[in-house]
Amino acid sequence: MEYEPVIGLEVHAQLLTETKLFCSCLTAFGAPPNTQTCPVCLGMPGVLPVANKKAVRYAIALGLATGCTISKTSLFARKNYFYPDLPKGYQISQYEVPICRRGFIDIDLEGEKKRIGITRIHMEDDAGKLIHDEENPVSRVDFNRTGVPLLEIVSEPDIRSPEEAVAYLRALRDILLYLGISDGNMEEGSFRCDANVSLRAAGEEKFGTRTELKNMNSFRHIQRALFYEIRRQRALLDAGEEVLQETRLWDEAKQATFGMRGKEEAQDYRYFPDPDLIPITVPDEWIEEIRESLPELPAAKRERFISVYSIPEYDAGVLTSSRALADYFEDAVKGSGEPKKVSNFIMSELMRELKRDERDISECPVTPAMLSELLVMVDQGKISGKIAKDVFEEMYRTGTKASEIVEKKGLAVERDEGALIALIEEILAENPDQVAQFKAGKTKVLGFFMGQLMKRTRGKADPRLSNELLREKLAE
Ligand code: ADP
Ligand code: MG
Ligand code: ZN
Repeated sequence: MEYEPVIGLEVHAQLLTETKLFCSCLTAFGAPPNTQTCPVCLGMPGVLPVANKKAVRYAIALGLATGCTISKTSLFARKNYFYPDLPKGYQISQYEVPICRRGFIDIDLEGEKKRIGITRIHMEDDAGKLIHDEENPVSRVDFNRTGVPLLEIVSEPDIRSPEEAVAYLRALRDILLYLGISDGNMEEGSFRCDANVSLRAAGEEKFGTRTELKNMNSFRHIQRALFYEIRRQRALLDAGEEVLQETRLWDEAKQATFGMRGKEEAQDYRYFPDPDLIPITVPDEWIEEIRESLPELPAAKRERFISVYSIPEYDAGVLTSSRALADYFEDAVKGSGEPKKVSNFIMSELMRELKRDERDISECPVTPAMLSELLVMVDQGKISGKIAKDVFEEMYRTGTKASEIVEKKGLAVERDEGALIALIEEILAENPDQVAQFKAGKTKVLGFFMGQLMKRTRGKADPRLSNELLREKLAE
């Protein structure tokens, strides 16, 4: 039997605000436990939460970037449940009226575009963190994260494979990073995903029963977990058994998912509008102001790079993988005017060095202007392409300009005819056999002479001029 996987994703992205969603406690990661708390985020009775305007702005920015409708009025609601990391006894979220609805993200899979619907984007506050002692029978709780603003982005069940799921997640994370509203740091949990997956018989319209894989924070884990879950569900269906609607956890060590709780045990959260928070009203002027402030987004930048710079789609994808890298490329092109050559150099030489040092482009010792200068020198024939790579390495190591390195190390192309002729005469005198072969019509030995000349000039002889001079001398 053929089955089609159906996948819908719920992403939690932490917003890059300085302070929490409803109080002025700081949000910075890694502070000593319980040093970033106050009566509001600790859920003391009688306190009054006040919504963080920047968090609302960020939610609207993501909504606009993903083609959502922005709700003129939206509400905060209490999602009631008990857990030790939740001092209020409820999470503040948005339920019936989220701030953004009905958007989409276009993904690109091996050149094929596909649109994935976004059902809703809503704001909510994060819970604290429990730390279970491995040796002693104690658990500790850190409330620093309690009240930190999150966006939950819920996709339509439009995704059909683990690869599509990862492409969607990468595209969403790129948009968050381009907007500068989240650091997208997956290791620190700033971008985490619940994946819902079901199978249906090929051609069937009705969705099958789904399971939900909770809280994954690595693209690789998400992909593997989905593969595993699809295989597991297929085996059940093939055996004539039913898929249980349940929440499951991916165990990376065991490379398997395990049931956590069934839907029967699912809680009734008794949502109701938070009486302490006024509805969020968003005036049109504010939406327009935010829309105008949006940066160029990854997909648009990619398209523009392809059409304006005539570089391949692959190059455009790599170069727009971050805003900083894209800016670097454009600045370097401004100085040298050779988009494809700049692209090649960045993708091979530059990115290799950065990767080796685990450095970000923003920490690159070679500025775009320095790279332009180097490429212009190659273009003008001042140095060879091969030597340019060595010069670049030195630039990267020392932060020195190309022209200085070339000058200091005498790497400029040798164009002095007198000097070249002297060397050629030496070579011909030392190799009478090869000269005789050439005269007998074996023109291939020209390569041998060129090789000798390059050796003696350490690769600096001007190739075209040397070739001419060699032929002249051999014809004598
Ligand atoms: P819940 O609130 O229980 O998580 P939702 O209806 O909000 O449920 O759906 C959550 C996610 O599950 C959405 O991303 C949606 O696209 C996806 N989803 C819903 N039904 C299915 C299904 N049958 N198979 C796969 N994904 C599904
Ligand atoms: Mg869910
Ligand atoms: Zn607080």
